[in-house]
Amino acid sequence: MTVGVLALQGDFAKHLDAFAELGVEAVAVRRPVELDALCGLVLPGGESTTLSLLLDSSGLTEPLAEHLRAGLAVFGTCAGLVLLAEEILDGRPDQRAFGVLGVTVRRNGYGRQLASFETELDAAALDASLSGDPGGPLPAVFIRAPRIETVGPGVEVLARLVGPGGEDGDVVAVREKNILAAAFHPELTADRRMHRLFLEMAGE
Ligand code: GLN
Repeated sequence: MTVGVLALQGDFAKHLDAFAELGVEAVAVRRPVELDALCGLVLPGGESTTLSLLLDSSGLTEPLAEHLRAGLAVFGTCAGLVLLAEEILDGRPDQRAFGVLGVTVRRNGYGRQLASFETELDAAALDASLSGDPGGPLPAVFIRAPRIETVGPGVEVLARLVGPGGEDGDVVAVREKNILAAAFHPELTADRRMHRLFLEMAGE
């Protein structure tokens, strides 16, 4: 099984490392022809406006949109989530997106004070969709993260922030059919549950 990581900009190298840890061959993707051999593709964190321009200039936008429609498993993290969302708030007017994931996201939605933070998520739903033992709270790093503001009916919630009193907080990881997405950076922590779920999806 070959999975790819979009390597135009952003922290793609950490995703490549994560797959290497899991013993899976992952390739850096920069050209349309490289999409054809893939069972799955990661859209990494970075800057969604820049990524959108680079996808256009490298000729990847249309071929990738076609692969998404055809069911290619894709995993968007942070800026990658923005690229997949049906609706983007506070985006740039010329910013393009694939619009294949039924969520509304607000770019940089955690404001200045919370621009970057680390926390532990309630990931019971993620565990339920993975084989193996539950892993407990999921450590997560947020870096100028998009905030998921609404979640459509076909979208499965996989992880949430936990409020100060233990109550349910924002949805931060979701799946809809072949699309997996996280507002945080799962490649920056040692917990590989999100990457494992993606590999299960890519193998289906
Ligand atoms: N704020 C960035 C954007 O809108 C995302 C930041 C990230 O990927 N760490 O693209």
